[in-house]
Amino acid sequence: MDIIAKPPLRTGTAGTPPNLSDYDAERRTFTWDAARDLLDGLPDGGLNIAHEAVHRHAAGPRADHVAIRWIGKDDRVVDVTYAALADRVSRFADVLASLGVDRGDRVFALSGRVVDLYVAALGTLHHGAVFCPLFSAFGPEPIRERVGRGDGRVLVTTAALYRRKVAAIRDALPMLEHVLLLDEPDVEGTLHLPTLLQAAAPGRPVAPTRREDMALLHFTSGTTGMPKGAVHVHDAVLAHAVTGRFALDLHPEDVFWCTADPGWVTGTSYGIIAPLVLGVTMVVDEGEFDAARWYRILQDQQITVLYTAPTAVRRLMRAGTDLPGSHDLSSVRFAASVGEPLNPEALHWAEEHLGILLHDNWWQTETGGIMIANIAASEVRPGSMGRPLPGVVAEILAADDDGDPVLVDGAVVVLDEPDRVGALALRRGWPSMMRGYLHEPERYERCFVGDRYISGDLARRDADGWFWFVGRGNDLIKSSGHLIGPFEVESALIEHPSVAEAGVIGVPDPVAGEVVKAFVSLNAGWTAGEDLRRELYGHARSRLGPAVSPKQIEFTDDLPKTRSGKIMRRLLKARELGLAEGDTSTLETPA
Ligand code: ATP
Ligand code: MG
Repeated sequence: MDIIAKPPLRTGTAGTPPNLSDYDAERRTFTWDAARDLLDGLPDGGLNIAHEAVHRHAAGPRADHVAIRWIGKDDRVVDVTYAALADRVSRFADVLASLGVDRGDRVFALSGRVVDLYVAALGTLHHGAVFCPLFSAFGPEPIRERVGRGDGRVLVTTAALYRRKVAAIRDALPMLEHVLLLDEPDVEGTLHLPTLLQAAAPGRPVAPTRREDMALLHFTSGTTGMPKGAVHVHDAVLAHAVTGRFALDLHPEDVFWCTADPGWVTGTSYGIIAPLVLGVTMVVDEGEFDAARWYRILQDQQITVLYTAPTAVRRLMRAGTDLPGSHDLSSVRFAASVGEPLNPEALHWAEEHLGILLHDNWWQTETGGIMIANIAASEVRPGSMGRPLPGVVAEILAADDDGDPVLVDGAVVVLDEPDRVGALALRRGWPSMMRGYLHEPERYERCFVGDRYISGDLARRDADGWFWFVGRGNDLIKSSGHLIGPFEVESALIEHPSVAEAGVIGVPDPVAGEVVKAFVSLNAGWTAGEDLRRELYGHARSRLGPAVSPKQIEFTDDLPKTRSGKIMRRLLKARELGLAEGDTSTLETPA
């Protein structure tokens, strides 16, 4: 098996060992209760994310440490210390209080990555209200749908977004009382947030929230269907702190860049909460993806820890090797990726051309934090998402062809032998687990069998305990008695130098049941055509064998993806079969 053994570890502060250096020992002894030492807590056993992320640092020796280093679209750099952030956050909470917003009320945000978006998130938590981020590129309908379903009482946005997307749907949102604009004053039906923040009283105490109080509402990516609203509580901060240390190896002197937008759970759990709770400096880039810009940021900001997504790595690959060659990326000592399988080819490319070893990890909106990870102290197995973190128990359950667990007398069947493919399940008990799908209690209940949470993904575990993603239950292809995960086919295709990205689905076939069809986008300099197609068939066959390799290959410039960068195989399938496309609110419209 392909295993990348680690060279001597590069750590940020010279000589600091990784936070999780002895995986087996830590797994044996770890308890979530003991890990509470990482947190401060409120008097009387209360817990509040904003207190943990901001105020306790502002009240201590880290007050003048930079919490947020913000880089504007125009490359302007603004540093916000923990003390300055704390002042603004508590003023935001005071604004909510003066508007009569109650604890538990939902505050939505629809904005690009400006500093006050982060202030709004933390100020909402400070007030004991519930923060719900939306991706700023959503159109009016997805906004109406989410704010409506989430009972939004406050919306924080910009004048331009308000005019373009919200004004026309406002009547359809009777619950939405207050719209706070981040920029322009005097827009009818809205309030000007900077003026309110100026007038607000400083030093408002943090709301005495309890561990189980609702804190965050996150809609899923919509990769497989209508997005679900996952409810998270303040206690999730314990998992953010632990996983930020274990899976991202954050140390106090790190400069951390999570490239995800807070509109997705990654951009909140690890783009706001985890780094701040651990007191590090986090970089926020207002700009959109641009390879040259990214290399510049990594170099100029001396990023030490990077958390990104496979789609971004594939885009960097597409942009070629000249740029990384002319930048010094040596400050990066640890890098991780999440959201989709990390194709081994992308991992090898980043190692060779960026000098960065990517550590794939796995989790979901529902799990609230990283569950399975390749960690700093262990070797990396390309294509594997790593091992369950301390405090997480992951199992493979016998599953049917749709990926649902097989029940025998109402009980699941745990597959203990290595390399069996089955449903990936987690034992209940980590603090950032969702506490419900908003307004969908039955759907939530269906995620569990006893004390096991069924993730909906299929995976296998190798003999050494590493987990390998196979596919989502509903993406699996059943061909002539074989069960094929699209990921292995896609990964084999992108090993070919012409292939930038691939999306693989099953299409009905009278003989085989289904056959594998691949949609392929090409790197610059390659021409789609019969010759290349034949070459790709040969390439895939030699890698995968005849049973699994694609029987059809179609070239496309436009693989449908979610805004968080996941390939939407269900759309490829619907389009292929002429079926209804279903919910497309999270579909990225190509620039
Ligand atoms: P929806 O539930 O609305 O269909 P989604 O599942 O894509 O959308 P998220 O919660 O953002 O929404 O994504 C979680 C899913 O992403 C996981 O269930 C898994 O399928 C995929 N995923 C995340 N990380 C990885 C990884 N490292 N390897 C493979 N797949 C991953
Ligand atoms: Mg999901």
